[in-house]
Amino acid sequence: MKITEHIQNATSTLFSFEILPPLKGENMKALFSNIDPLMEFKPPFIDVTYHREEYVYKTHENGLLEKRTTRKRPGTVGICAAIQNHYKVDTVPHLICGGFTKEETENALIDLHFLGIDNVLALRGDCVKSEQRFIPEADGHHYASELIGQIVEMNNGSYLDKEQVYNSGTDFCIGVAGYPEKHFEAPNLKSDLRWLKKKIEMGADYIVTQMFFDNRKYFDFVNLCRSEGINVPIIPGLKPFTTKTQLNVLPSLFHIEIPYDLADAVENCRDNKAAAQIGVEWAIQQSKELIAFGVPCLHYYSMGKSETVRKVAEQLF
Ligand code: FAD
Repeated sequence: MKITEHIQNATSTLFSFEILPPLKGENMKALFSNIDPLMEFKPPFIDVTYHREEYVYKTHENGLLEKRTTRKRPGTVGICAAIQNHYKVDTVPHLICGGFTKEETENALIDLHFLGIDNVLALRGDCVKSEQRFIPEADGHHYASELIGQIVEMNNGSYLDKEQVYNSGTDFCIGVAGYPEKHFEAPNLKSDLRWLKKKIEMGADYIVTQMFFDNRKYFDFVNLCRSEGINVPIIPGLKPFTTKTQLNVLPSLFHIEIPYDLADAVENCRDNKAAAQIGVEWAIQQSKELIAFGVPCLHYYSMGKSETVRKVAEQLF
């Protein structure tokens, strides 16, 4: 079922979460043991992130430079299918532009359709670590809006190499990323919103936000979106703190601010256990305020650890 249908049918705020594929070599048991504790809160859908390849360079004795690719967390599509089979819950695989030609994207979408997956989160992806800026494949997409264009064309029956229009039945619901504190490459929030609007005009159905710790940023973002004519559901993404080091790691990875009061409280914690407790309390307060605001769904970033998300959900769902 589509995420937009889940939202339309909901009688109260929905609970959902995002997981990462396990590191290569780990098994599905570990993944399921992270999902199991969250199932009693009846998530209508679970997101699974996509992790693109990294380049590894090795200089041989003869001086030749070998360039290899490696992926630390493969398996997004398989995990989505496994979750849908095991838990009978919809999944949202993240699909990125980086590393994909248009044909590879088309094939990935065909796989998802055959596996009974109705939703995708369409993203550009970040640049690989060894590159300064995002470089698409020669025949790939530069921006998420172009990827959305391809998904919509396929929903309408058009494939890359055929003039004929098919009736193969794909009808993906398309989610996109939104940034209450602006995307880090955007010169300002207004121009970022212009491109967000383009993603909706191209056919995206809903927005999921980057994590934020100050609800005012989300409220302002929603108001700005509405005033720019962006009227699709905007699902807030929340991340309960789990460690003290996240005080520095989260801002540097996700280009977000931690409010002074929260940062101060976490800094003064003697250990990670105490920091996680502060994180849970903060996320509960944020969630309560967002529910009162009328958000359609609260979406939690578990980042491979469900314990704190469970503690938050226990108080709300
Ligand atoms: P876009 O919407 O394409 O925007 C990228 C930048 O280009 C923005 O600064 C935008 O303002 C600008 N822009 C857009 N269109 C144009 C245009 N036509 N002309 C000029 N400028 C333009 N990454 C992963 O690799 N895997 C994941 O699973 C993943 N999941 C995510 C989930 C969520 C909810 C979020 C918020 C992010 C996720 N990311 C993931 C990170 C995301 O891929 C990066 O933030 C990436 O840098 C931007 O992706 P985007 O889809 O927002 O890009």
